[in-house]
Amino acid sequence: MGYFLPSSSRWFTSCSPGGARRSATPPLSTSSTSPRSSPSLPSSPHSSTSSDSSVSISSSPFFVLPPMFGLPKMMTPPSLLTPSPKNMMRRPFSRRTLAKSLAALQRMTGKSLAGLPLENFDYESILGQCCEMPIGYVQIPVGIAGPLFLDGREYMVPMATTEGCLVASTNRGCKAINLSGGASSVLLRDGMTRAPVVRFATAQRAAQLKFFLEDPENYETLSMVFNRSSRFGRLQSIKCAIAGKNLYMRFSCSTGDAMGMNMISKGVQNVLDFLQNDFPDMDVIGISGNFCSDKKPAAVNWIEGRGKSVVCEAIISGDVVRTVLKTNVEALVELNMLKNLAGSAMAGALGGFNAHASNIVSAVYIATGQDPAQNVESSHCITMFEAVNDGKDLHVSVTMPSIEVGTVGGGTQLASQSACLNLLGVKGANREAAGSNARLLATIVAGSVLAGELSLMSALAAGQLVRSHMKYNRSSKDVSKISS
Ligand code: ADP
Repeated sequence: MGYFLPSSSRWFTSCSPGGARRSATPPLSTSSTSPRSSPSLPSSPHSSTSSDSSVSISSSPFFVLPPMFGLPKMMTPPSLLTPSPKNMMRRPFSRRTLAKSLAALQRMTGKSLAGLPLENFDYESILGQCCEMPIGYVQIPVGIAGPLFLDGREYMVPMATTEGCLVASTNRGCKAINLSGGASSVLLRDGMTRAPVVRFATAQRAAQLKFFLEDPENYETLSMVFNRSSRFGRLQSIKCAIAGKNLYMRFSCSTGDAMGMNMISKGVQNVLDFLQNDFPDMDVIGISGNFCSDKKPAAVNWIEGRGKSVVCEAIISGDVVRTVLKTNVEALVELNMLKNLAGSAMAGALGGFNAHASNIVSAVYIATGQDPAQNVESSHCITMFEAVNDGKDLHVSVTMPSIEVGTVGGGTQLASQSACLNLLGVKGANREAAGSNARLLATIVAGSVLAGELSLMSALAAGQLVRSHMKYNRSSKDVSKISS
């Protein structure tokens, strides 16, 4: 699950051997005719290797710590910041090197790092992929909520968290769902997005490219160029938006079991290179122009979706609401209306029409090796509580348009995260039906959020929240005695 280099397009274009060409902008043109001729395919496929290496941190320079830490005044030598064939090499770690780094850091800062473990971690597994300049690892406890009865199967859901009550509360939600016959989910959409920004000399030229991309006659050619980048990435659509003479093209593609940021970026780069044949005046400003939109709250994700869009529902019987959740249907419906709907509207929420979806999303993401920064849009959720069966029972649903998960790539291959994926039965690539492991994981995330919403909302309705937090989430340690 690759991280994409931030929108440092200038770095990107100047450092990328296979990166998008920057072309001189042509003189102002008044022509409004769009280039309708179907562009010819390039004679040889673009080397995905060259552009891959420029877009992916997974192939970015891997730095070894001691030289940097050995320098006076904490200066980083330029050679460590600029990719070069030498430092692009992935150097294996030795335990001695790591221990030296840690010791140097403590000496340099004068701060103790006692408590940050160094031993018992497979540093080779993060090499060139997950973390640079390691000095240890942070421990986060993993709790289990479940079984969650979802779509006819039971799941024990791993949650990595330090928030007391969270696992217990989600577990109570799972119990209420189980006793009511289980939850069911529907995957509405599955497509990762990436939106480069390109600039022309005029808005007219930007519009010509927009029309070209939206012309169904060109789609086949564009998807052929895009799909060359991977066995799994398949172009679904290109949605365009214009700001003056700048064009934002939101590519969407399926990505198999990968979360897909690396995959889609490679495909997009192929298309940009290809478009330059017919639009040589196109100035590629950045392969990510924020219309994607990755790791930022954005209406485009809330409305159009990003990654997996899932709706998950259950009918909780009135008896279970009373005996397990300690409240009643009417109170829950009213609280949901005033808090999650009206209250969030008053706050001007963007995708935040829920009680605490991000709590569950983050905990499951950390446990299963997802990118926790994508919690931003993955937690977009509208929670609905509606009375059914003449007001006796509760229909509860969560609709989550942007769940970004994968079961291959990035942190998913690390030992502990991989074990958590294994527990859910979604470890690695699904050999029979590529993408079905990642899709199943997305539905489990939504099901777990459903459980979490049910339980927290019930605690609020019953006025239990403060009491349970005082019991489970209150440190008994005297924090004033903890020195830095
Ligand atoms: P991301 O695109 O999420 O950043 P990576 O590029 O890190 O993910 O990892 C995806 C890699 O895994 C690709 O090289 C891809 O070819 C490979 N792969 C193997 N099996 C699958 C599968 N079932 N679905 C998606 N990718 C797969």
